[in-house]
Amino acid sequence: MILLKIPTRSYCSPSKITKGMGLSPLKKSLLSKKIKENIHPSLPVRTRFAPSPTGFLHLGSLRTALYNYLLARNTNGQFLLRLEDTDQKRLVDGAEENIYDILKWCNINYDETPVKQSERKLIYDKYVKILLSSGMAYRCFCSKERLNDLRRSAMELKPPSMASYDRCCAHLGEEEVNLKLAQGKPFTVRFKSPERYPIFTDLLHGEINIQPQVNFNDKRYDDLILVKSDKLPTYHLANVVDDHLMGITHVIRGEEWLPSTPKHIALYDAFGWVCPKFIHIPLLTTVGDKKLSKRKGDMSILDLKKQGVLPEALINFCALFGWSPPRDLASKKHECFSMEELENLFNLDGLTKGNAKVDDKKLWFFNKHFLQKRISNPSTLRKLVDEIMPALESRYNTSTISREKIAKILLNCGSCLPKINDFSGEFYYFFDKPKYDDNDAVAKFLSKNESPHIARLLKKFGQFQEGTNAQDVESMVETMYYEGGFPRKVTYQAIRFALAGCHPGAKIAAMIDILGIKESNKRLSEGLEFLQRKK
Ligand code: GLU
Repeated sequence: MILLKIPTRSYCSPSKITKGMGLSPLKKSLLSKKIKENIHPSLPVRTRFAPSPTGFLHLGSLRTALYNYLLARNTNGQFLLRLEDTDQKRLVDGAEENIYDILKWCNINYDETPVKQSERKLIYDKYVKILLSSGMAYRCFCSKERLNDLRRSAMELKPPSMASYDRCCAHLGEEEVNLKLAQGKPFTVRFKSPERYPIFTDLLHGEINIQPQVNFNDKRYDDLILVKSDKLPTYHLANVVDDHLMGITHVIRGEEWLPSTPKHIALYDAFGWVCPKFIHIPLLTTVGDKKLSKRKGDMSILDLKKQGVLPEALINFCALFGWSPPRDLASKKHECFSMEELENLFNLDGLTKGNAKVDDKKLWFFNKHFLQKRISNPSTLRKLVDEIMPALESRYNTSTISREKIAKILLNCGSCLPKINDFSGEFYYFFDKPKYDDNDAVAKFLSKNESPHIARLLKKFGQFQEGTNAQDVESMVETMYYEGGFPRKVTYQAIRFALAGCHPGAKIAAMIDILGIKESNKRLSEGLEFLQRKK
């Protein structure tokens, strides 16, 4: 016997969803084309981000927040925050704080006071009563064991039934119900779901028709639970009630919520409410096409922040997962956008349907770009210096550290830095002696150039004069070539060896400028001594 557990919110891939059912292929393609074009609203929208604080924010949820935010800003509408925290058992310590912190850090500002579902029980109770009294919902007193048996037997049917409940409690009389209530029997409230779920239009995917698979010889019902036995509403009920009460006009959410949408629409119908417009955005996958999962901790935003990712870079990175800028910009390979630019450019017509691939190389590319932008602005440069100071002070002799020096390094050599956290490691040689021993780059250099030869070169090279600049370095290298026959490249490498232990990145003239002539000359001598000792 195969025992299968039916997830309460089963995921159904969009490919399994019948779109534009009953239409010829030509009509179907016209339909999806028509729906795809001009889906961008012309009036101000009200959107929301509705995370459950059951884990720390990850890339997928940040993208959802961002798209909802951008749509609201682009249309001069409002963007709201709602914490869907009714599943008390799954709440994670610190997750709520993490949502506020990350949104603030990313500059995704919400309008109005955030809504917390755990504080709105009385509101949901009121709406459940409406459904109970109209007969569109009923109390279910079935035990866990009975429900498990029903699930098992539903799966054993041929064909198996995805809906499992037999609606036994829907037939209880008022007296019976009151008696059970008086006895204090635990119960859930179930929605009397319609025979067929409404077909609905997703602005991105077109018409969608999702029906649970049932076996007509043993009819079961997809009567979803609205209130759990702990008396708290389920996600489905609270989500629908709040989207209605908050006046949400557009819901952008991940494709994993597509199977829930027909149920939500049936609930809107039961209440007699107009439902918002839905846009289900594609899943994020890694470059190898593996679905990203928050449980595996893939790209937690807090981790990325700790690694030194800048929020501007992250926003730019997220914006392009499933959205592309207008064609004229895309054709110019323009892909770096500030939040302000995104607010102006974002348009639902630019959404794409295919899974969005997450390639972290791109994230570092954006990070480098935005770091450079911060470096070139005096006020953000000052803040970067503030950020760097503590790490340097805990690592190096404070006499080697100054704000001017850090700023100079950033201005001259910052372009090789992918993230600010790399600063103290990447530029160690500005604050400490360069490493000659135990250094792979030096070993590699000396495996290609014999130490005595480089020693001869450095000896002939001598010392820098006070005020040496880039041009002077160049002419010294030329002299080495014409008078000593030393190839230019090797001379540069030898200087880099002495000044920075072969560390790449900074230009020689910039190094001299930052280290000062005295320290640079000292290093030329020490590099030479090291080579002579090696002989
Ligand atoms: N609480 C759901 C989530 O965690 C919200 C889904 C929706 O946007 O409706 O993603």
